[in-house]
Amino acid sequence: MIIIVKILIAIAVLLIVIYASSPLYLQAVEKRINRIDGAEDYKASKNSKDLHSTLFIIDLHCDSLLSYRNLLQRSSAGHSDIPRLVEGNIGLQVFGAATLIPLFPDMEKNDTGLGIAGFLAFLKHWPLNTWFSPKNRALYQGSKLHNLEDKSKGALEIIKTSNQLENYYKRYMEKTHITAGLLALEGAHVINSIPGDIDELFDQGFRIIGLTHLTDNKLGGSRHGAQKGGLTEFGKNALRRMEKLEMIIDLTHASSKLTEDVLNICSRPVMVSHTGVKGCMNNNRNLSDRQIQAIAENGGLIGIGFWKEAVGKSNVEAIVNSIKHTSDLVGIKHVALGSDFDGGVSVPFDAAGMVHITEELMRQGFSEREIRMIMGENALNFLINSLPKQ
Ligand SMILES: [Zn+2]
Repeated sequence: MIIIVKILIAIAVLLIVIYASSPLYLQAVEKRINRIDGAEDYKASKNSKDLHSTLFIIDLHCDSLLSYRNLLQRSSAGHSDIPRLVEGNIGLQVFGAATLIPLFPDMEKNDTGLGIAGFLAFLKHWPLNTWFSPKNRALYQGSKLHNLEDKSKGALEIIKTSNQLENYYKRYMEKTHITAGLLALEGAHVINSIPGDIDELFDQGFRIIGLTHLTDNKLGGSRHGAQKGGLTEFGKNALRRMEKLEMIIDLTHASSKLTEDVLNICSRPVMVSHTGVKGCMNNNRNLSDRQIQAIAENGGLIGIGFWKEAVGKSNVEAIVNSIKHTSDLVGIKHVALGSDFDGGVSVPFDAAGMVHITEELMRQGFSEREIRMIMGENALNFLINSLPKQ
């Protein structure tokens, strides 16, 4: 009995030490998992800088809300924060909320077993109610973005409606130092009741729902799941509720069967916020040409990722090659950007370095009009048409 008590006391002391000292090592951990892995020392030309400064840029996915960092301050760790979004001239950043991370994430197959997101919430000193609940972790990340908005002195605005986005866009083009955020759920395993949980997410400001993340869930299969199944009855009901609220469906990480099922029954255009394409990098994570065509026929939008496993190499040329493959296949208007900044990936530059995409698009022969569309206008039109009016 005394031995058990001693063991419990030792575990408690160890957890207290780990908890109290986490700020000391979280920055080092983040520098390791969210690396800037530039093969080249990029230097943008005056021409590309001039054009870049006139663009309205939208990035369809980052995971920066997972970071322990204060995103109002510029950091040398990770890929993005509000000052770097402003420096990179990113007018609108979609902030994903990931809430379930397997202990050993595998792009081919994950069981819904042991996850570490709760332990990471503990290490990052998130509230106690987030340690054991994926839904609370999503809502907490939503509240983090609202707190940032409150403390940003007008530098960050959260977009919830298309009217608001149109007004914000006009102000942005008058060249003030501002940026905007839009909340997206990465993985609908947090949804266990319809309409209850969906409406709660909507009320918190979530406007995009990624149906699956790294594991299968009650709605359907993940590309990385154990079964990789299609849309379930529960998933169909959830989809109907999301469409009624004019939430946007994100098929990133959805299994092939789920992608097909959703495209067959959805009544609104969908997005794939951060992906690569098999035509440039053939792996389980990426979209096939047939899937790209089906998404384009639906009027959907495809955000090309910046990281090596998505586009084949950690460099800007590989990113633009994937953009080119997609636009050659289905037309420019379906192509957008989906960096996955701070998503546990290596990228060739951080949010402040977005000009390198503009430079490489120019180098590969895209016209000014096409560059404006890819960098943000396609996503702007998509969001204006898809978000609730007010
Ligand atoms: Zn993702």
